[in-house]
Amino acid sequence: MASNRTCAHIGAIETVKREKRHECEECVKIGAGWVHLRTCQECGVTLCCDSSPNRHATRHAQESGHSVIASAEPGERWLYCYPDNTFVEY
Ligand SMILES: [Zn+2]
Ligand SMILES: [Zn+2]
Ligand SMILES: [Zn+2]
Repeated sequence: MASNRTCAHIGAIETVKREKRHECEECVKIGAGWVHLRTCQECGVTLCCDSSPNRHATRHAQESGHSVIASAEPGERWLYCYPDNTFVEY
């Protein structure tokens, strides 16, 4: 990571996981829509952002304890750590 403002969680990431499918798994199950997609960097699940009605990425972080997400949007290259509120472009 180039930035020196990262936390330990982001600093531990060597390869950023990118989405395989461009959809929120949880929204697909319930037939809901989403705005943007985020990929959990611990388990690789792709879920929807806080602008989406169901906020599955944040809910996943809270329930699983997984700390870091990456944007799954094409052209966006950033990581965010929930517990440290750290935002890093890569
Ligand atoms: Zn962190
Ligand atoms: Zn969702
Ligand atoms: Zn996860």
